[in-house]
Amino acid sequence: MVNAKEISGFLNEELKTKDFEDYANNGLQVENTEEIKKIGFSVDASLETFEKAKEAGCQMLITHHGMMYKGLTHINGHHYERVKFLIENNIAVYCAHLPLDAHPIHGNNIQIVNILKLKKIKPFGEHHNQTIGYQGEFSGTLEDVKKALEENGMKTRSLDFGKKEIKTVAIISGGAAENTFEAIQKGVDLYITGESSQYLHHLAKENKINVIFGGHYETEVFGVKALMPLLKEKFNVEVEFIDVPTLV
Ligand SMILES: [Zn+2]
Repeated sequence: MVNAKEISGFLNEELKTKDFEDYANNGLQVENTEEIKKIGFSVDASLETFEKAKEAGCQMLITHHGMMYKGLTHINGHHYERVKFLIENNIAVYCAHLPLDAHPIHGNNIQIVNILKLKKIKPFGEHHNQTIGYQGEFSGTLEDVKKALEENGMKTRSLDFGKKEIKTVAIISGGAAENTFEAIQKGVDLYITGESSQYLHHLAKENKINVIFGGHYETEVFGVKALMPLLKEKFNVEVEFIDVPTLV
């Protein structure tokens, strides 16, 4: 018999949430009073996700993006509707944002590194005074990279302004368009992130770098999915991935 606080305590240790300076509130955002028999895993803490978690019979939901960010002072509007739904249905929500991007085993970024079989990996991506991404060596073409990403559910909208033969790749999942500057400065052949921004077209063109946008959602399913076997084994609970892709 396990409750949400015990699972939260275990995850906080495992993901070293205290080590991160994050604008998201990592940890147990909403608690409940039920024994946890089934946990849902999803990217976003939205009302649609909560409804699907309820349908799936989950007492707890673990998400990458939380529902309350720093500075939230009023529980009204959609915040109220979300909290109301969770409390009425006795569902707990745990959030792990940057700790689940950066984790060296469970993280979103290391898993994309593994998909591309990058070698000689080193940290990449300054984000709030910490490093959350990776760069490494690849041997193949830009098309080879796109194929591998697509085979693993990611999008491949791209700015193909660099070399066709790719030797170095840098990766930050989600919304890290601004780290294209760092990728240029470090001379990598290809930068992969989740979503784009208008200024990147000319920036990438003038600096002759390739940039692939794998989708914010699509590059961030890996972290929560990696926690599924871990918690199933540790707490003997049922687990289910709640897939709610976004149109972004
Ligand atoms: Zn994100």
